[in-house]
Amino acid sequence: MMKVTLTGTGSPIPDANRAGPSTLVQCAGQNILIDCGRGVAMRLVAAGVPAPFISAILITHLHSDHITDLNDLVTTRWILTPEATPTVVYGPLGTQKVVDGMMAMLTPDQKYRHDHHEDLRIGPGLQVEVHEVVPGDEFMIGDARVIVGRTDHRPVTPTIGFRIEAEGKSVVLAGDTVPCDELDALCLNADIYVQTVLRPDLLELVKQFVPALASRTTDILDYHSNVEDAAKTASRAGVKTLMLTHYVPAMQTGQEADWIALATPHFSGNIVLGPDLTSAEA
Ligand SMILES: [Zn+2]
Ligand SMILES: [Zn+2]
Repeated sequence: MMKVTLTGTGSPIPDANRAGPSTLVQCAGQNILIDCGRGVAMRLVAAGVPAPFISAILITHLHSDHITDLNDLVTTRWILTPEATPTVVYGPLGTQKVVDGMMAMLTPDQKYRHDHHEDLRIGPGLQVEVHEVVPGDEFMIGDARVIVGRTDHRPVTPTIGFRIEAEGKSVVLAGDTVPCDELDALCLNADIYVQTVLRPDLLELVKQFVPALASRTTDILDYHSNVEDAAKTASRAGVKTLMLTHYVPAMQTGQEADWIALATPHFSGNIVLGPDLTSAEA
């Protein structure tokens, strides 16, 4: 059984009810976290998988909203795990440099805790094992196979998506991307395809009410999939379930049917969206 839980359905814009982008995939006895946005450590507890139980973290790209709480996961894992083991991170080229900077930021805290907790001094301390990966790479997390694919979120580069396969099931975590051939190939016949999306029609309204943000609101349209794009990708690739997340602007309670209505003309499969902790199984 493969379970996919949206541990954060928000975006860079802070929202009272939506944590930043992150998704938990549970399969073959592994707990794999994709991206780690704002509040992810809290949502993981709600999902029943506190930070020390994460097998590996996969990063789609280095935009702040997708990595902002990596430091929280790394620290939480260290202080809550009796025998410290490194946090394992797979990400695009550049991930090591970002993690090095983050570790520098955490140095004072590591000293405070070492000074006060003798047992924390026994292990290797705060450690992150970084694997930088490129499109075409494949690796195993336990018995789960992960395939890395190229995505298109230019000018942000490199960006990658992940296909996770285990026990005959598959899920694709696309991250932020516009539709492209590589994404179609990564998604081919997947059981579940998770896509971050925005709504140009609602952003047009935002533009009218907050003219100062007009140009930034327009800029984001050309490097994200909208709901229709995601539905068309799902249809071309023959996926069974389309999960939408990273709603820009934030989806209000009661609007779910409106969002689904934009997808259904283009995709006849199962469509899943909702609040944080919404899940799907394959
Ligand atoms: Zn992004
Ligand atoms: Zn994003």
